[in-house]
Amino acid sequence: MPELPEVETIKRGLLSTVIDQKIQSIDVLLPKIFIGNTELILGSYISSVDRKGKLLIIALEDSSNVRLFLTIHLKMTGQLLFKSETRPEFALGHPIPPLKSPIPNKSTRAIFVFESGDRLYFNDIRTFGYIKVLDEERLKLEPFLLTVGVEPLTPEFTVELFKKLVSRSVKVPVKPFLLDQTKVAGLGNIYTDEALFWAKIHPTRLIGSLSEEEVERLYISIRKVLTDGVDTLGSSKSSYVTLAGKVGSFLEKAAVYQRAGLPCVVCGNPILRISFRGRGTHFCGNCQK
Ligand SMILES: [Zn+2]
Repeated sequence: MPELPEVETIKRGLLSTVIDQKIQSIDVLLPKIFIGNTELILGSYISSVDRKGKLLIIALEDSSNVRLFLTIHLKMTGQLLFKSETRPEFALGHPIPPLKSPIPNKSTRAIFVFESGDRLYFNDIRTFGYIKVLDEERLKLEPFLLTVGVEPLTPEFTVELFKKLVSRSVKVPVKPFLLDQTKVAGLGNIYTDEALFWAKIHPTRLIGSLSEEEVERLYISIRKVLTDGVDTLGSSKSSYVTLAGKVGSFLEKAAVYQRAGLPCVVCGNPILRISFRGRGTHFCGNCQK
């Protein structure tokens, strides 16, 4: 599943290509992934692209200034591919089928055709992803948006707020706490393992056992790994991202994720991998206590 840096990269790709584009037609090849009436948005222009956690929110305006929104969640295996003769093309998302496969292909679930002739394809091999059309009222009532936690790269995410969230979850191990999207939005397996490494905290520790200093270190580490992830266009090796020919390179600088058996970048001991609550978990048994 894409995490915050990957969805942020997708958002930036869309911002540089689809703003002010007019939707001419929508071809829905698998009805269950498209929730809402496609007719409502034909002729609308895309006015903004936003992100909350791992959810993309695209605002639309028609000639009478009616505001509607498209929300897109890629879930496990979603891809977005932008094809154009005049603008930079990109393909972002899960690596299967390969992002350079001819499209449409058998994983293509919906196609947006813009008046310019550009196209946006939504592919999803396992079909957990979705596209929804919502008006402003419905958008406010979206269960995801009502429950999603704080955005960790905004000024709203202060160390005081993080301490407050931590103090309410003392009996939860630290890794599942970080993966809980209702606490801090956008962290998944990769960035959670990386943040815990830099904070020198063992992933199975209970939140309640963390000292104040450890909580502060974790706060700083979360921001550091997510910022690095955004700066490097996310991680492409296991999953995501090509944008105008660039490939996400975060995993080249990952300290623990997918590095089991390789030497720790700090102490040289081999990185360990365990399964913790069903998630592959990477850490240094020497540095992380
Ligand atoms: Zn180490």
